[in-house]
Amino acid sequence: MEKTLIILKPDAVAKGLENDIVQKYEKAGLRMIRREELVATAATLKQHYSAHVQKGFYPSLEKFMSSGKIVAIIFEGNNAVATARKVTGSTDPMKAEKGTIRNEFGDMKLADDDRIMKNLVHASATKEEAEKEIKLWFG
Ligand code: ATP
Ligand code: MG
Repeated sequence: MEKTLIILKPDAVAKGLENDIVQKYEKAGLRMIRREELVATAATLKQHYSAHVQKGFYPSLEKFMSSGKIVAIIFEGNNAVATARKVTGSTDPMKAEKGTIRNEFGDMKLADDDRIMKNLVHASATKEEAEKEIKLWFG
């Protein structure tokens, strides 16, 4: 069965949205098989966001992602990667489809430095990304 990695970002944890968000994935047929609360280090975030590390917004992204507690979760299910991305919604909460997590719980505000979208969750984009990220966060 396919697995995918979800991270509840610091804004989701601070707003107490963990249960609501987990339920959204469960209603889509996914099952939580691992869960870990932590504060992300810069080194782990650089690996996690290796595709973005050279981009102008990366320092703000790293600052936001390490600003508080996060929860890393592995979900399992049929087409787990695509299913989770669909339930998550578009990167920009203002453009996220109705009923998605980023649409329903996003508050349309930017993070403190006004450059990073506080979009509540990370969801692996591809099967390869999911495998790499599960190794990174769960060893
Ligand atoms: P995530 O990887 O967090 O699930 P995503 O796959 O929808 O989000 P990515 O393109 O991988 O989007 O971007 C990773 C994160 O970097 C986004 O969630 C967002 O917080 C931030 N980000 C992406 N593009 C930009 C941008 N142009 N300006 C500012 N922040 C951005
Ligand atoms: Mg991504």
